[in-house]
Amino acid sequence: MSFAALRAVILVSILMVGIQLASGNDDTQNHLSNDINELLENLGSRNFEQDPASGKLVLRVGHTLRIENCGNYPYHNNDDPKAGYLQLADDIKDGLTQGLQCLAGLGPMGPQHPYHMNQASWLIEILSSKQTKTFRCVQDETFAYAVSRASPERIKGDTFDEVTKDLPYPGVLIDTYRISGFLSRKHEASTYREFFKLDERLIDKHLNKRPLQLDGLHRYRDRPALLFHEMAHWLGHVHSSTYPDVVELYETCCFGGDDHIRDADTNRDFQQQACAILRDGELWEVNRYKQMRLWKYRGYDQLKRNMRAAYD
Ligand SMILES: [Zn+2]
Repeated sequence: MSFAALRAVILVSILMVGIQLASGNDDTQNHLSNDINELLENLGSRNFEQDPASGKLVLRVGHTLRIENCGNYPYHNNDDPKAGYLQLADDIKDGLTQGLQCLAGLGPMGPQHPYHMNQASWLIEILSSKQTKTFRCVQDETFAYAVSRASPERIKGDTFDEVTKDLPYPGVLIDTYRISGFLSRKHEASTYREFFKLDERLIDKHLNKRPLQLDGLHRYRDRPALLFHEMAHWLGHVHSSTYPDVVELYETCCFGGDDHIRDADTNRDFQQQACAILRDGELWEVNRYKQMRLWKYRGYDQLKRNMRAAYD
């Protein structure tokens, strides 16, 4: 075979492999699209029950999601005791719609590396499994807006052992004080006086009437993003500055930046950076050690730091 012919054969082979890979991705995407639609349809069913043990209201969403104690969700201003539960069910569904479509490459941010399509499949599998997934609201019990409990193994990240110890896994604990931007009621009286500069009248109002919202305490707006973030922890990802922070990248790329940054252009810039990292083929194909090296070498570890610096 002449060199030219050999080169032609090689080129055609490369092309064929490329076409096969592309059509493989199309197949995966079609499957994913169907699975996402099926899951979302399932999450449209909502049934209120009374917990036989506690007598408290529980909302069942789809076959396996269970919402407990969320009458005050999200901002403690519901008239109807069922409204908070239904709002949370909607936020979970909205978060999954946007997050899963993004990871499947079906969202406005365009195609994704197959690794992330697999992550979407796995999350759908967890959500569709028979095991109950619990979402529970608490008031003024955590330092975070929400925390996840992924599995019986100790997983760092958002898992606060102390506050999640009674929460079945996989589960999410949502602190309605934190997402409302309320000042905690658990400080010492001297802290209100000296640190927050409140007078006795305001301290009394805060502790005995309605909790105060102060400037600088953030009210979380993009709740679907927060909920998708927490569910992505069920995949086993933990927060890290030395390895790819998958959960942060998903939230930033798929939900348009960060809830703490108000400027739309700044958010769009961070969003594009996060999506570019998710599309870095090499990063998602190498072993854990090389991932750590690339994460630093390419300066990806700076993204979170730059985002924190841009907080309002
Ligand atoms: Zn987290």
